[in-house]
Amino acid sequence: MAKYLTDEERVAIVKDNCKRVLWDVAEATVKSGRSEGDVRLMAVTKTVEPLLINAAFECGIDLMGENRVQEYLGKRDELNLQGVERHLIGHLQKNKVRTIVGEVDMIESIDSLELAKEVSKRSVAKGLDTKVLLEVNIGGEESKFGFDPSEVGEKLAEISELPGIAVQGLMTIPPASDNEVEIRENFAKMNKLYVDIASKIFNNINILSMGMSADYTQAILEGSTLVRVGSKLFGNRIYR
Ligand SMILES: *Cc1c(COP(=O)(O)O)cnc(C)c1O
Repeated sequence: MAKYLTDEERVAIVKDNCKRVLWDVAEATVKSGRSEGDVRLMAVTKTVEPLLINAAFECGIDLMGENRVQEYLGKRDELNLQGVERHLIGHLQKNKVRTIVGEVDMIESIDSLELAKEVSKRSVAKGLDTKVLLEVNIGGEESKFGFDPSEVGEKLAEISELPGIAVQGLMTIPPASDNEVEIRENFAKMNKLYVDIASKIFNNINILSMGMSADYTQAILEGSTLVRVGSKLFGNRIYR
């Protein structure tokens, strides 16, 4: 958002965006054959200042996602987090696990068995259970983190046996694409994997986190239960 806007104006824009996206999400949810409220909207808050994040909370969003441990810990004292669930959604390095365990409600970006074991170990040491999602590299891209679709069932079975860690579902960031058909196909493929795993391997999962600003409607129509939206709420990110 441009600098010449006042804080009040910027807050008003974010609240407007939130209302619109909440409405879109509800509409797509009903269209997908589910009940309004069955799909959650996450505000993705990386690079966003607390003033605007709090505006999103005031407008009724009760879930936030941050990518980096340090950024989250650095700004959370300025956030009005009562009633807000906090997820870590960015790639997590093993040496940061100790710092983040117990500080968020869920880690969505478990992308290796080693990372899961570290989360397990640090959670046991703190006497708690950490809720997690397993990240799936649905497009098999070299540049992306996540389990290969062919191995995720087996790894989930193994991870679900670890103490101090509770697997709640799957998360994905599909390949970037402008092709509507391709976008829908990747979401459908991911949903099929999720449904297969839930029915055959581990029926305690109930979260499928997929869909971002450009494609959350399609993701919901293909079965997403949680969409992660940043720029459509807060405007384009400015990385400093
Ligand atoms: C940044 C980010 C998002 C949100 O991206 P937008 O396109 O701005 O909605 C969602 N998920 C993850 C993992 C992200 O890093």
